[in-house]
Amino acid sequence: MSRRLTYLDYAATVPLISEVREAMHEAEEKFFANASALHTPGHLAMNEIEECREILAGLIGASSEEIIFTSGASESNNTVIRTFEGHQIETSDLEHHSIIETAQVYRGDKLPKLYSYMLVNNEIGEILKLPKVSGEKFTDWDLFKKKTEWGKLVFTEQKKEYLHSDLTQALGKIPIDVKELGLDYATFSAHKIGGPIGVGALYVRKGVPLKPLIIGGNQEGKRRGGTYNTVGIIGFKTALKKVIEERSWKKFDTSVRGLRDLLAKRILEEIPGSSLNTDLRRGKSLPNILNVSFRAAEGESIQLYLDTEGIIVSTGSACAAGDIKPSHVLMAKTGDAEVAHSSIRFSFGLENTMEDVERVMEVLPDVIRRLQGISTL
Ligand code: PMP
Repeated sequence: MSRRLTYLDYAATVPLISEVREAMHEAEEKFFANASALHTPGHLAMNEIEECREILAGLIGASSEEIIFTSGASESNNTVIRTFEGHQIETSDLEHHSIIETAQVYRGDKLPKLYSYMLVNNEIGEILKLPKVSGEKFTDWDLFKKKTEWGKLVFTEQKKEYLHSDLTQALGKIPIDVKELGLDYATFSAHKIGGPIGVGALYVRKGVPLKPLIIGGNQEGKRRGGTYNTVGIIGFKTALKKVIEERSWKKFDTSVRGLRDLLAKRILEEIPGSSLNTDLRRGKSLPNILNVSFRAAEGESIQLYLDTEGIIVSTGSACAAGDIKPSHVLMAKTGDAEVAHSSIRFSFGLENTMEDVERVMEVLPDVIRRLQGISTL
């Protein structure tokens, strides 16, 4: 007998929404041409891409020339960090590995300086305060130009400090306005809103520097080479339209928040040794993420036991799975390896219902009791 999965790993990826699947299927036949080609089928494909660009720009308060399509948030993050190769790069402790590890490789000591702070964290859902960057002019600009020959192509605005934010988890869940946030760059990914995996975008404010990561094509105004992923971008467009039509951030703030908070309350009441790593207060965390530690129970074991019961959750960040080091996010927040090792992330989506909370609470207390019973900790 097959049982419905209780999927609570929406922060890792959102299952493709049915309208997206249909739109992509249709696009495979209808928009097959290379979108850069000058013939009619090429123009038709390009029109679809431009429509997606306008929709995303409209949703985040940008203009469409400020959007570049990429293969996902990791590429968008790498592109921004590598633009500042050899220069000062400051990140928050809670960043995704595609920021932290790239910054470790490329940071240097020269000005101008890049700040990269995510607006919301993917493991505990924390909403961060973005730094205020100075708008001061940088006069020794040739130093930057020498390293960045490509820079002559695009940038005109010579500031001392720039601000990037990884908005991958924020898109669709809270209202976003890149201008209000004072951002120079911002990262997005389609699969976190029900679009396809392997499609993302980068907001690059007009006039700021950008070094293309992929060189060798005129696509995206020479800012990102490579034949357009038309079908993927159409999937992204369809997912964005749904976000806008449904005003999904409202649903996250009400119904999804309700489920998340209920699960937290029941865990605290019914499972001894449980403690929350997510601050549930409005404005402090994304409404769909709940990170919990269970004293003397190991996160990976909890995850596996739940998996056998059809309940899908994650431990910390899925991108770090297989890595036995405790989550850098939980270590930064708690400094306690045991708390980090015993943590589980439940992340909700618009399809979850009360039944999913009930199902978790049918299984989880017993799983934790059994693990705590055999623990040597
Ligand atoms: N940044 C954040 C905050 C994320 O949550 C993720 C996905 N785990 C990424 C970047 C990477 O996204 P992508 O899979 O599109 O490369």
